[in-house]
Amino acid sequence: KKRVLSGIQPSGQLTLGNYIGAMKNYVSLQHECDSYFMIVDLHAITVPQEPAALRENTESVAALYLAAGIDPDKAAIFAQSHVHEHAELGWMMTTLSYMGELERMTQFKDKSAGKDAVGAGLFVYPPLMSADILLYKADLVPVGDDQKQHLELTRDLAGRFNHRFGETLVVPEPFIPKVGARIMSLDDASKKMSKSNPNAGSYIALLDPPEVIRKKLSRAKTDLGREVVYDPQNKPEISNLLSIYANCSGETIEVIQSRYADRGYGDFKKDLAEQVVGVLEPLQRRYAEIRSSGEIHRILRQGAERARAVAAKTLSEVKEAMGFLPPL
Ligand code: ATP
Ligand code: MG
Repeated sequence: KKRVLSGIQPSGQLTLGNYIGAMKNYVSLQHECDSYFMIVDLHAITVPQEPAALRENTESVAALYLAAGIDPDKAAIFAQSHVHEHAELGWMMTTLSYMGELERMTQFKDKSAGKDAVGAGLFVYPPLMSADILLYKADLVPVGDDQKQHLELTRDLAGRFNHRFGETLVVPEPFIPKVGARIMSLDDASKKMSKSNPNAGSYIALLDPPEVIRKKLSRAKTDLGREVVYDPQNKPEISNLLSIYANCSGETIEVIQSRYADRGYGDFKKDLAEQVVGVLEPLQRRYAEIRSSGEIHRILRQGAERARAVAAKTLSEVKEAMGFLPPL
C-alpha cells in the first residue's frame, strides 16, 4: 500500500482553492492508501496567529476534513503539534538546507514581500514541511500547484540525507490535480486564492453561507468582452471561473463553454454560484453536525497516536544514521 501524507494550515477560513487543490484528493486517495492528514498548526505560526483563533481554526479544519468525507477509520487525522517529532526532524532538515535554496522559494518571497519584519519561521517553513513528509516515508503528497517547489526541495533533502547518511528516507512524489491545481483570487487572477488574503472577497470560504457565495461570485472580476471562453493568457479571470465551474459540476470546460457561448458573463456567474452552493451546502450541513457531535477531540487523539507510532520510528532511524548518541 502506498503511503500518503498532506496537511492544511489552520491560518484562516479554508477556501474553495484548498478544497479543489488538496482536500478532494485526500478523500479519493484514502481508499487505496495508508493515509495521514494533518492540521499543520506549527506552519500556521510562521505568521502571527491569535491563540484563540488558532485553537478554533484547528478544530474547524479537523471538522472540515470529516465533512469533506475523510473517514477517521481509514485515515489518521491529527494536529501537527501533537506529534513532537515534526519539530525535531524539522530542525534536522533545516540543518541540511542551504540558505540559497530557501531564498529561491516563491512562497517565502510572496509572503515576505513588502514586510519590514520577516519572521525566520517563514524562511525555514520548507524544511519543516519536508520533515512532515519524510517522517512518514510518504510516497505521495496531494497538494496544489503552489506547493510543487516545496515538494522538489523535499525530494532534494531526502536524496541529500540518504547520500550523506545512508538509505533511510523515501523520496516522495507530488500528486497534483489536472484541473484546479491553482485556483486564482476572485479579485485578481494573477494571484492564487489564499485563506490568508485580508480581502474576504478574494476567496470563497468553505463555510460562506450561500448568499455570501452568490454575492462574492457576482462581484468576481471579469475580463474585457463578454464571451465565456477558456483562455488563461488573454482571459485569466473568466478562465479561473470556468475551472471552478468544471470542478464543481464535474463537466469538462468545453461543455460549459459551449453552454454559455452566446449568453455572456451574467448568466454564467449566476449558474456558477449555484454549482458552488450545490457542493458546499451539503458539506456545511455535515460540518455543523460534526462540530456539535463532540467527536473531534477523540478523533484527533486517535489520529495522533497512529501518527506518532510511525513518526517515532523514522526519527530514531534518522538520529541513529546521523550519529546521535542513543538514549542512555
Ligand atoms: P495561506 O494563505 O495561509 O498560505 P492557503 O490558502 O495557501 O493559506 P495552505 O494551508 O497554505 O492554504 O495550503 C493547503 C493546501 O491547499 C496545499 O496543498 C496548497 O497547495 C493547496 N492550495 C492552497 N491554495 C490553493 C489554490 N488557490 N488552488 C489550489 N490549491 C491550493
Ligand atoms: Mg499557502
